[in-house]
Amino acid sequence: MIGNPKAFIFDLDGTIYIGDKRIEGADKVLESIRKTNLPIRFVTNNPRFSREVYTEKLNNMGVQADIEEIITSSWLTANYLNKKPLYGKIFAIGEKQLISESKEMNINLVRVGGEDPDTILVSFDTTLTYEKLQFAYYHLTNGANFIATNPDMICPTLEGGLLDAGVIISALESATDRKVEQIIGKPSSLLGKLLVDNLGVSAKECVIIGDRLNTDISLGKKTGMKTVWINSSNIKHPKDTENIPDLTINKIEDLLEWLPFE
Ligand SMILES: [Mg+2]
Repeated sequence: MIGNPKAFIFDLDGTIYIGDKRIEGADKVLESIRKTNLPIRFVTNNPRFSREVYTEKLNNMGVQADIEEIITSSWLTANYLNKKPLYGKIFAIGEKQLISESKEMNINLVRVGGEDPDTILVSFDTTLTYEKLQFAYYHLTNGANFIATNPDMICPTLEGGLLDAGVIISALESATDRKVEQIIGKPSSLLGKLLVDNLGVSAKECVIIGDRLNTDISLGKKTGMKTVWINSSNIKHPKDTENIPDLTINKIEDLLEWLPFE
């Protein structure tokens, strides 16, 4: 089903942990892979925290991780925009982490009510205000580029989830009758390509493991990776019929049965 993988890519929220609670068996799976010295990456669409925070969070849960192994959508976005000066002045609907990583990468950010942006960047923002939404709407109707860190509707939490960037994208798409033009995090093929290049293996030797068909599995499919879906809610007939995983398991621990090593 997953062949003989040479590299592993794990989603974080809903795969390794929910909120601050490690998902049972995640540590065993990772320990088993660590023994082989095969490379591992942890990829999260959550742009709210730094790579340092995720490294510490994982280590505190008993999951060994190194900062170089962590890819967040805010880190990725700041690096991407740094290489794409054509996006010009950016107005970001986002939180402190995205803003500070963008500043570190010398991205030209404008404030709400300030200079006219060339691009609207939508992200997961628990500090969203009417003013931010209105400013983005106004400039989108006047031709600004429309990009986003991630398309997720809900970020899983122990309390049932937080409204994520997808909800803000939907609001702006409905209001402007436009579609977001570029997603930078999962499931974008630009992230897929970056991962494969970074891991130094071919796409088909990579396996991506996650709990979302429209982000984790879609990224793997687009890039040509092997895909493992953790169907933790035991969904009988997934609505997403485009992203069919190579392997479906109900809990991360079940992956142990499929690894071609002890
Ligand atoms: Mg997830």
